[in-house]
Amino acid sequence: MSQTNHQFRLAARPVGLPKRSDWNYTEETVADPGPGQLVVKVLYLSLDPAMRGWMNEGRSYIEPVKIGDVMRAGGVGRVVSSQNPSFKTGDHVFGMLGIQEYAVSDGKAFTKIDPNVAPLPVYLGALGITGLTAYFGLLDIGRPVAGETVLVSGAAGATGMIVGQIAKIKGCRAVGIAGGPEKCKYVVHELGFDACIDYKAENVMDALRRDCPKGVNVYFDNVGGEILDAALAQLARQARVVICGAISQYNTNGGIKGPANYLSLLINNARMEGFVIFNYAARYAEGVRELATWRAQGKLKSKEDIVEGFQTFPETLLKLFSGESFGKLMIKVAD
Ligand code: NAP
Repeated sequence: MSQTNHQFRLAARPVGLPKRSDWNYTEETVADPGPGQLVVKVLYLSLDPAMRGWMNEGRSYIEPVKIGDVMRAGGVGRVVSSQNPSFKTGDHVFGMLGIQEYAVSDGKAFTKIDPNVAPLPVYLGALGITGLTAYFGLLDIGRPVAGETVLVSGAAGATGMIVGQIAKIKGCRAVGIAGGPEKCKYVVHELGFDACIDYKAENVMDALRRDCPKGVNVYFDNVGGEILDAALAQLARQARVVICGAISQYNTNGGIKGPANYLSLLINNARMEGFVIFNYAARYAEGVRELATWRAQGKLKSKEDIVEGFQTFPETLLKLFSGESFGKLMIKVAD
């Protein structure tokens, strides 16, 4: 093919927040697909807090990105050339396309998506990995029961906003924690949460006593740190704490701070359990089906935060950690 591909390749393992010099911006010609391969033109790239962890060395649930490799990222794109009988030119796919403009692949881990069912960006959010994370994390691990109180941090973020809406669908009281009045207003007035605590403006412990007077039955934790500690202090009996993520800890240099209030688990006969969404891959279709049904019925809203321009990747990623992202953060690479 005569097209030019640009990529962001990992150049260094960051200390603290990643910076532009932690990547090399490279250019090469897109290869023709070999037998069984296809070429995908990248349209939207998902930016995820997990990318920060993938840049670190050390044991995790997935191999670190190697120095020199294209930065790992989920994305949606259009097949522009195919020697793979399962995909034809013009098909739209979701897969780990990487931070680049074209991806050449055997397509084994790609999923076909239908832009007539939902706009492409939604397949990176509500009908994508973050939607599925909310779905399986809440329903499989949190196991909410109608009438219970579900508390979720990062409530105006990609995962958190879906967690609270599923809690409402299941007949629970949904309480969010988010940074700033605009996000809190959106979560309550647009998404239908019962309350939202602005952790930047209020004392979270006091607000939890006000908004979760009977205690927290399910706490879905996206942020860790002091907010996790506050939530632990307000658990109800037999509560379930779902450890989804700990974004407040991803860029610290001095090690991750553990919860001081963990004995609340003992006092309340409570349970704390982590999970990795990739372990649910065999059940993704089931999750997407139900999420898409709720979306079509108007019960599930989504919000995408779309930044134009492939070149902006290093700076746009930082929006996740500064709280500037609002909804599912992604980059639009091409039309
Ligand atoms: P997101 O919530 O859309 O974006 C991140 C948000 O986190 C920011 O907008 C910011 O919102 C909040 N935040 C950033 N720094 C914070 C801090 N120091 N304290 C409190 N809040 C902070 O991102 P997402 O993709 O949905 O991911 C949410 C969490 O789920 C992350 O921890 C991620 O690693 C995790 N995750 C886990 C899995 C899994 O398989 N376990 C899969 C996907 C995601 P505010 O303005 O409200 O602060």
